[in-house]
Amino acid sequence: MRRSLLLLSAGLTMLSTGFASAENNTPRNLILFIPDGLRALKVTPETAPAMAEVRDKGVNFKNPHSLFPTFTMANGSAMSTGHYLGDTGVFSNTIWTSYTSAPAGDTVVPFIENDAVLGDIDEHFSGNYLNEDTILKLARDKGYSTAALGKHGPTYQFDHTDKPEKPGLHSIVFDDATGGKHGVALSDEVKDALTKAGLPAVPPPRGDNSKAGDAKTPGTNVANVAQQAYFADVAAKVVLPMFKTRNKPFVLVFWSRDPDGSQHNTGDSLNQIMPGINGPTSMAGIRNADNNLAQLRKALDELGLAASTNIIISADHGFSTISKESKTSPSAKVSYDDTPKDFLPMGFLALDLAKALDLPLFDPNDKNAKIEGNKHPKFGNGVLGKDPEKPDLIVATNGGSDLIYLPNKDKKLAAKTIKALLTQDYVSGLFVEESLGRFPGTLPLSSINLRGKAATPTPSIVVNFRSYASDCGEAPTNCSVQVADTVLRQGQGMHGSFSRGDTMNFMAAIGPDFKTGFVDELPVSNADVGMTAARLMGLRATQKGELVGRVMSEALPNGAVPKAYVGTVKSKPAEGGLITVLNFQRVGSQRYFDAAGFPGRTLGLEPETGKQKTAGK
Ligand SMILES: [Zn+2]
Repeated sequence: MRRSLLLLSAGLTMLSTGFASAENNTPRNLILFIPDGLRALKVTPETAPAMAEVRDKGVNFKNPHSLFPTFTMANGSAMSTGHYLGDTGVFSNTIWTSYTSAPAGDTVVPFIENDAVLGDIDEHFSGNYLNEDTILKLARDKGYSTAALGKHGPTYQFDHTDKPEKPGLHSIVFDDATGGKHGVALSDEVKDALTKAGLPAVPPPRGDNSKAGDAKTPGTNVANVAQQAYFADVAAKVVLPMFKTRNKPFVLVFWSRDPDGSQHNTGDSLNQIMPGINGPTSMAGIRNADNNLAQLRKALDELGLAASTNIIISADHGFSTISKESKTSPSAKVSYDDTPKDFLPMGFLALDLAKALDLPLFDPNDKNAKIEGNKHPKFGNGVLGKDPEKPDLIVATNGGSDLIYLPNKDKKLAAKTIKALLTQDYVSGLFVEESLGRFPGTLPLSSINLRGKAATPTPSIVVNFRSYASDCGEAPTNCSVQVADTVLRQGQGMHGSFSRGDTMNFMAAIGPDFKTGFVDELPVSNADVGMTAARLMGLRATQKGELVGRVMSEALPNGAVPKAYVGTVKSKPAEGGLITVLNFQRVGSQRYFDAAGFPGRTLGLEPETGKQKTAGK
């Protein structure tokens, strides 16, 4: 409690000292541009000239942080509320909701990058699963014009609490669902403007960019060009001109699916680590996002809005190339008809735990069908126990980390599960909900701000997977490789781990309320993005949770420049010596998490030296 109060008061101090434009009363506009999955150090004047220009002429956030688990919906929840995941309850892209979600395909573990699923979860959790107000809702209430365009899921999450069938009250939303049954309805004003601009009212599909391939067929070799060109055209030719005419301040969120989609599905590297996500398809994805940003900035210039508009660019997370290798996993020794020999199958965590715990395994994405023989769960998720309707353990599969839920809070089962996890070479770091007890080799969920006022169930154990840097010839964070629980193949892309490759997202800002040519060495995070956006627009939320980000005052003219410190938290060694280590930085009482895991098994965590070396191996 004491720590939380400290956090809160630190936040308030920033609010009162760090804000220059509060005095000049000029209404500012804000564009929040999210290049999904863009690694900080992939941006150069050659690879992404528009982003490099914002970074080099505005603020270069040199010490950025995606929040762990480093997934899209999780970090979107932080950017849209300013809160950590312990408060927003969006612990990953696939979570256990404790009830069967029909729009998610009748499953207790919905994949939530979907407007219909988000609407369903909202209904279940008292109308607001985030349990905090979003900046778009607050801005809308304050009279701002608001819009969100781009990727299905995180875009709608920015303003999800109003009923889509009431256009006009809601933000203008364009995403993959627009024009369909579950899309946010467009107002007549927007429809007329689309017609005048010669744009259809339905976005084009991703086409070939959505092709993931399989074990024998490479995935895509094209970026998500056509679909994103549509969203960028709608923003530049319809939404921004409309907002200018209204002559009120606005906030516009643009969520670029690229480079994420192209890096995930890349067909450049089937079953091979190299070039992985550094091949031409990924680079085309980066350039595609960059072109969208360039188009938005050009529109601001042409509309005379550039001088009154702040732009914050923040990727939700970094990225890594997928490895499917393990020497210890029993599931990797079974042969499956869709998985190369000796590779980890999708759902390896659920399969290995079912074996180690001697519990029956059922598939929550296949009407709870029992999984036996050389089968694996369809989407990797699993419910374990004698009765699949009342499971003892649930695995929500995500990628570079997975979530485990123990609905009965069974401490003995927790101990057995942790013991089993510690024997697997693909595990690097375990985080355990504290009401289950303290377990050697693990750190508590609160140490990474995953325990707060969440409305959705808090996971019992968060399992981070192994990562390392390949010899890709670039900075180590650009060469991150990770074991991932996913249908995607070795050589394709994933994120979600505590690798510095996944936590090091691209962040930059430019505009009237930001310093120019400023290199910010202080740690910043996606929770800070939400808090800073709220501060720039003068929004005040009545917050329920206390796990809030920091206003990045050092990046604002005349803003306070706080001091930063580095630190490390270490668990007690488990039997066998494994220690979960967490490297963090600190500003006030605000912690920024760089990397975590077992030393030597996570990129960004040095193998321990001296006495701890033996303990860590
Ligand atoms: Zn992704």
